[in-house]
Amino acid sequence: MSIDRHQGGTATVAQRSTDFVMEVQHLTKRFPVGGVLDKRAVHALQDVSFSLPRAKIVALVGESGSGKSTTARALARLIEPTGGRILYNGRDILREEPRSASLSYREDVQMVFQDPFGSLNPAHTIRHAIERPLRIHRKAKGRSAIRERVETLLETVGLTPPGETASKYPYQLSGGQRQRVAFARALAVDPKVMLADEPVSMLDVSIRIGVLNLMERLKEENGISFLYITHDIASARYIADETNVMYAGRMVEGAESRELIDEPAHPYTQLLLSAVPNPHAGLRTDEATTRGEIPSLIDPPPGCPFAPRCPHVMPECQEAMPGVTRLNAHHWVRCHLHGSGQGEPTANLPV
Ligand code: SF4
Repeated sequence: MSIDRHQGGTATVAQRSTDFVMEVQHLTKRFPVGGVLDKRAVHALQDVSFSLPRAKIVALVGESGSGKSTTARALARLIEPTGGRILYNGRDILREEPRSASLSYREDVQMVFQDPFGSLNPAHTIRHAIERPLRIHRKAKGRSAIRERVETLLETVGLTPPGETASKYPYQLSGGQRQRVAFARALAVDPKVMLADEPVSMLDVSIRIGVLNLMERLKEENGISFLYITHDIASARYIADETNVMYAGRMVEGAESRELIDEPAHPYTQLLLSAVPNPHAGLRTDEATTRGEIPSLIDPPPGCPFAPRCPHVMPECQEAMPGVTRLNAHHWVRCHLHGSGQGEPTANLPV
């Protein structure tokens, strides 16, 4: 995917913290690995912080096991974080007591999963799948209003004629069409945020762009903020306003997408980019891409988790995890190559 949609270099960054619909602060998640006597834990998320501006797409990029899906699940309240804060429009949603507040958050923040077939009940029609959230969340009343709303939603995601699509079963649709149904179902409750977890990775390459363009359109026309989870840094460049890179449960770099791709500062980001096929240079596998694997997340040692794979490793890398160094207003990194780091990992706050 080599199309550059960021031509002109216009910074698409939020100007003030009030522009953020969601702020994630020092999020941690530990999963116990054994019984009550076993004190070990998988440190799936460690000190994860980032912000989601209104009506923007922010990508979380990394290999399997980097913690990006765990982050999305914590934001969707599918798992309970061990520590940290999730601010939604300034509300600390992990500490909100009234059930009604929690329900409104779950309505506003919808998740789209990787496998569109697995997330649709094969025994029910598409109409049933979309009617259900409309009825549960009382978004439309009366048979004809619900019917009309289902067809409007299908049209919004590009499934026409909507009446015909609504009467089909999931197996009668292509993978791309099923993923569009998943978006329509999420849209049924008028969300403000969508957490899209690898939404195109199971689709044929030829139809991925259509689904990515749908996300772009929903951002522009419906003002929805997207957290786009992907292992494909090329697709992040295509669709995302900002990109954050995760490794071994930590955020290691974040920037406006074009800058991150053009001037990657962290050796891991450079490794990810070296693995992207270059149509001009032919297929190649950089030596770095074959070096080592993500380390065990069970009680990881101090120091930079990327050290075993890093071609620039230094003695201090084994001793302490680097702090956040701000390279400019829209670009930060955690790496000893760039300084000791005392900053905050917010790519989108101007200095
Ligand atoms: Fe490499 Fe050290 Fe930077 Fe980690 S902190 S990425 S080991 S140079």
